[in-house]
Amino acid sequence: MFDTKTVERFNTIDTPFYYYDLSLLKKTLDLYTKELRKYKFHAHYAFKANANLEILDIIKEYGLGADCVSGNEVSLAIKSGFDPKKVVYAGVGKSDKEIETALAGEIFSFNCESIPEIEVIDSIAKKMGKTASISLRINPDIDAHTHRYISTGRSQDKFGISHWMFDDVLSAIAKCSNIKLSGLHFHVGSQITDLNVFDMLANKVNEISANFKDKGVKIENLNLGGGLGIDYNDPDTTPISDFASYFSIIDKKLIREPYQQIHFEPGRAIVAQCGSLISRVLYVKFGKGRKFAILDAGMNDLIRPALYQASHKIENLTSVGRGMRYDVVGPICESSDRFAKNLLLPETKRGDIMAIRSAGAYGQVMAMRYNQKDLAPDYYSE
Ligand SMILES: *Cc1c(COP(=O)(O)O)cnc(C)c1O
Repeated sequence: MFDTKTVERFNTIDTPFYYYDLSLLKKTLDLYTKELRKYKFHAHYAFKANANLEILDIIKEYGLGADCVSGNEVSLAIKSGFDPKKVVYAGVGKSDKEIETALAGEIFSFNCESIPEIEVIDSIAKKMGKTASISLRINPDIDAHTHRYISTGRSQDKFGISHWMFDDVLSAIAKCSNIKLSGLHFHVGSQITDLNVFDMLANKVNEISANFKDKGVKIENLNLGGGLGIDYNDPDTTPISDFASYFSIIDKKLIREPYQQIHFEPGRAIVAQCGSLISRVLYVKFGKGRKFAILDAGMNDLIRPALYQASHKIENLTSVGRGMRYDVVGPICESSDRFAKNLLLPETKRGDIMAIRSAGAYGQVMAMRYNQKDLAPDYYSE
């Protein structure tokens, strides 16, 4: 929902562009950090969801750390003022250069995904005279019941270390003089809307951390990753995810030792709802048994529908009146460049302003220049 003043402002700006409602971002962070503090949990914002400086600045003010998945994200986190002691770095394919960047930055933890990676980090740390603090990213073999492209915690996925490798990993670490094992890390998928998945995850974490305790390994940090979903169908009714239930499930289920710190890595649930992709209708075209509303925004601006079959709420901010059905598509030369099929909209005409909602996460940050399109710029409510 946009007020009249905001729509008037949209009318004066070249489309397509991203628009961010910073007051919703702050409201979301207010609630998130309030719930987090209740349990003395720690959070690291997943930079890959959206790394615009305006957004990072606000998230930093709320005291969150940074969850990074590349050396450049680590550099950006440190450069933009995030406390290196709150930076974690995950990813199955960390390059030597990226590892050097993170070691030089003295980050809180590498979330390690394989034995060869741990050995490479150790050898680089040795050369640099540093000790790398690491967590093991565990593959807990949990199906997050989300789209298969955003499931990361099943045994067939490329992420994490499976239980049958734990002894080998521990003996590899024992041979590494410049590695300190301090945590276990879990991230099982994204856009998880069934909270039972987090219940299952907490049980799995208990089982695995007991397993490490039995082996005589002291684990100081348990990191449960991100993944909490948002309401793409109805962002106005549910602008903020149910953080209270999410954290309370984890608090109830998770067994923790007095010396253990609990960490999270929220991405989508923090930034998705505050962003929209704003575009104009270029043409309305009649096809066989259907009408196409062709926008000036496409999969180059927002790839989620093409990549994950994701659906975003789409609103015509200009026209009102009788409903008609449209396939809402972009200008890119790909048939997957479609935002919606057979969508009921008011009768739509050239020039109408269209809002594609809930686009703050994995939207602008995934934009590309395919077809030599320009990158859509960003505007803010403040
Ligand atoms: C992407 C990612 C996250 C954030 O996931 P969301 O679903 O956006 O909350 C957290 N941790 C890791 C390791 C990730 O790769």
